[in-house]
Amino acid sequence: MKIAVLGTGMVGRAIADRLSTLGHDVVIGTRDVQETLARTEPDWLGNVPFAQWQQAHPAVRLVSFSDAGAHGEVVVNATPGTVSVAALEAAGAANLAGKVILDVALPLDMSEGMPPLLAVANTDSLGEQIQRAFPEARVVKSLNTMLADTMVDPSRIPGQHNVFVAGEDADAKATVKSLLSEFGWPDEAIIDLGGIRGARGTEMYSRLLFTVSAELGTYDFNLAIVRK
Ligand code: NAP
Repeated sequence: MKIAVLGTGMVGRAIADRLSTLGHDVVIGTRDVQETLARTEPDWLGNVPFAQWQQAHPAVRLVSFSDAGAHGEVVVNATPGTVSVAALEAAGAANLAGKVILDVALPLDMSEGMPPLLAVANTDSLGEQIQRAFPEARVVKSLNTMLADTMVDPSRIPGQHNVFVAGEDADAKATVKSLLSEFGWPDEAIIDLGGIRGARGTEMYSRLLFTVSAELGTYDFNLAIVRK
């Protein structure tokens, strides 16, 4: 499948690498290809410069957001939630019409440090904002409740643990569930929260995630829903 990943950070790289390894035709979108390739310093999270990552992942092509939007049958949003609508606008509303947008972003507001506030919450969510901004696209919120490495390889966390999907379009959710299955998520681990409004809870969970992470000293954990 032709897949575009918007975002050159650790999430975009992890998802693009895994999808490419699985045999998909993957591009990564960035604001300015030359500027991104010219970076020589690790980013603020310590990720190696993109050009160095690219050398180790030659099958994944770096393109503009616009070219990425044109390429993907599925478009993954892996940009900061506060600028995701702008990044998707750069990908092109016409390019996105009818396509699946897999939104893994969080609308984090870092203005007061850690744990981050949410730029949108309670009565709205980033997933809903994106669906409203791109009404002809089919937005599915998923994978935003865990570390990037876990998104694409759930086996690294022992035992059964869960991933959520939320979105209005049943076919789009089926496409995303199929990708989750390729990543290694068992059917019974995937919890369908219904419409895109379900994004609210998964985004607001990030408050707990960051607090737990500060206590545990790691992001290497996930939610397991245990039922009677
Ligand atoms: P990130 O640093 O949040 O985002 C990097 C990407 O955002 C880059 O491609 C960058 O473009 C683009 N970008 C930055 N400012 C922009 C602007 N003003 N307009 C348009 N694009 C802009 O990357 P990340 O750490 O991989 O996180 C991606 C998303 O996943 C975030 O929403 C994050 O909250 C969420 N998330 C992360 C994790 C995790 O494990 N880290 C887990 C769950 C959810 P350039 O390529 O041009 O620099």
